[in-house]
Amino acid sequence: MRLNDAKKEIIAILSNNSDVENAPREFSIIAEFSLGISKLDQIIKPDIEISSSDYQKLLECANQRLNHTPLSYITQKREFFGLDFYVSENTLIPRPDTETLVEEALNELKNIPCPDVLDLCTGTGAIGIAIKSNISCTLTLSDISEEALKITKKNAHSLINDDCTIICSDLFAKISKKFDIIVTNPPYLTQEWYSIVTDEVKKEPKSALVSDNNDGLDIIRKIIIQSPKHLKNGGFLMIECDYRQTALCAKLLSKAGFKEIKIVKDLANKERVVRGTYYA
Ligand code: GLN
Repeated sequence: MRLNDAKKEIIAILSNNSDVENAPREFSIIAEFSLGISKLDQIIKPDIEISSSDYQKLLECANQRLNHTPLSYITQKREFFGLDFYVSENTLIPRPDTETLVEEALNELKNIPCPDVLDLCTGTGAIGIAIKSNISCTLTLSDISEEALKITKKNAHSLINDDCTIICSDLFAKISKKFDIIVTNPPYLTQEWYSIVTDEVKKEPKSALVSDNNDGLDIIRKIIIQSPKHLKNGGFLMIECDYRQTALCAKLLSKAGFKEIKIVKDLANKERVVRGTYYA
């Protein structure tokens, strides 16, 4: 079968799925991933012959998409802050919104020589690893999930040469150090918000998305209360949350003794990050 004929059929299948915004683009990603045919070769060699087992591989990927599996879980890859991260069903897929948190952290950290950085609820490690890829720092990545940490380790290996400490910990339970900055994108969706996320988002680990409390701030509350003990004098806490939670998060920071509290908007102009500074 010619690649181009397979392409037409697979695109027709993909187009039946409302999750797929751009079927030709997804085809080219799937073909590169499952057949090893580069995007360029797909364009310049449309007549290339593919075997029936190759066609089955393409079909298998397309069927996974029909079943709402995110493209990133099929290719096991996601680009974040210009870096290629491994992802699995045990980790959240890094989102462009979260790049706001990285930018905010980098902006502060450029003035501190080799700061101590903690990425709490790290998942893939995206936030901490993106920071470490841009400045020299001492990095700790922590998560409650052993399964997620297998992916963290892979990313730390491929992107920062394993130059970090990885800890399996329920928030600060196993963390004793003090940091210049704590960055975190913890679970913060309410059950109600979760009930209306897309089928695709439902394929991501619920434990990484939902904080089991009416306002979704259960885990963020714990982080805000426990952080001061783990920050150096003048240290920063930067938290990603939903735009409907930023005002309350700012209040919680203030109540916990944080100063210079600010809310930062993401690229979509929505309030996304809340930050404060702790003076011991
Ligand atoms: N922003 C993510 C979403 O809406 C949620 C991320 C999180 O809970 N940490 O899917």
